[in-house]
Amino acid sequence: MTTPSAALRNVHPVPPPAGAARLFLAGSRAGYSQHLQAYGSIDVGAVAPGFLDVVEASGLTGRGGAAFASWRKMAAAAQAGGRGLFSARPVVIANGAEGEPLSHKDAALLAHAPHVVLDGVLVAAAALQTSHAYIYVTAETMPSVQSALAERTDARHIRPVEADDTFISGEASAVVNKIQGGPSLPLDKLRRLSDAGLRGRPTLVLNVETLAHIGLLARFGVDWFRSVGTARDPGTRLVTVAGAGTDQVLEVPGDASLHGILRSSGIHPEELSAVLVGGYHGRWVRPLDYRLSPAGSPETLVRPGVGVIYVLSPDQCGLAVTAQITEYLAGQSARQCGPCMFGLRAMADVLNRLADGERDPRLVAELERLGRIVSGRGSCHHPDGTVRMVSSALETFSDDVREHLIGRCTRIQRGTR
Ligand code: SF4
Repeated sequence: MTTPSAALRNVHPVPPPAGAARLFLAGSRAGYSQHLQAYGSIDVGAVAPGFLDVVEASGLTGRGGAAFASWRKMAAAAQAGGRGLFSARPVVIANGAEGEPLSHKDAALLAHAPHVVLDGVLVAAAALQTSHAYIYVTAETMPSVQSALAERTDARHIRPVEADDTFISGEASAVVNKIQGGPSLPLDKLRRLSDAGLRGRPTLVLNVETLAHIGLLARFGVDWFRSVGTARDPGTRLVTVAGAGTDQVLEVPGDASLHGILRSSGIHPEELSAVLVGGYHGRWVRPLDYRLSPAGSPETLVRPGVGVIYVLSPDQCGLAVTAQITEYLAGQSARQCGPCMFGLRAMADVLNRLADGERDPRLVAELERLGRIVSGRGSCHHPDGTVRMVSSALETFSDDVREHLIGRCTRIQRGTR
């Protein structure tokens, strides 16, 4: 087995970034020369397949939602690429679609630090011994990505593709479908992209922030990566803190406390009603003494998902906001699977009735029944994520549910923006 450090070579070393500020070191809207000044250059040609051991040792997990171990995804595509005499070279796709309406972290990264992402794409492609690479981004961030690509000669083979502006467009199989000329709709979930993804090639789809960490990992190594965060959640992650008059992107240590993140955003946690963590497929929590980590007990931690932390102020009704979000999610069904197409719509209708003050105690049981019908029945995780978010709302806002059922909720029914 290759030792982690044997796969690395930083050509013009600069001191590694200290502390939890890692991804935006080169400053606002950094060009390639600022990027090199901040991070030094790297010899991507020196990155060998043994780099997968580095990624494994780092403990890096995906920053796009599922928090899957990054090395496993890379290894699956690498192994599929190496099978058989005529096996196809793998494809690397940097996913910056960020369909989640409350999330801006990937847009911020691509706008201000595109070269950190491009380094990660080059490193991942080198580790998989391929030159087939795409960067899939929104119309908003495309100009920044194109400028960055034009600035360097080593990234000309990375092809930019524009993502549709829908919630589902960032789902990995929808990304593949779109790049190969189809609609950005999820494919059959039984098909493994690592075996047969883009045009049948083994395909690695990683979130752009995940790739940014991979690029830095290749420069500065495992010990540096793990020097921030905790053993169960090493490194840093980007979060978008939104709601209650704020909308900002922060880089925080792994396993950070919700309290700490909120205070860093200028928000007093004691003044909040509840927090939705992980985005529209996330989990409502209150009180707020949780840590943000993909691994550990759900009693004490909440999974970061896409890194969204939406704060609910005391004058907002959590049920009304949940109804609005579910309404949106029902509208974002790709309308390929019946339970998703009809079930989410029915859930949104029941939540609206509850939020509007209909005093029928059977509404909660109906929501739970619909949740059971819809879960696990889609070609993608859209229905499951929606059901999880709604279930957490029923638990977190159980007092509010009772208030609604006796007609006593007086909060202003303000939305999510
Ligand atoms: S589960 Fe919903 S969003 Fe996912 S593919 Fe089926 S219809 Fe589309």
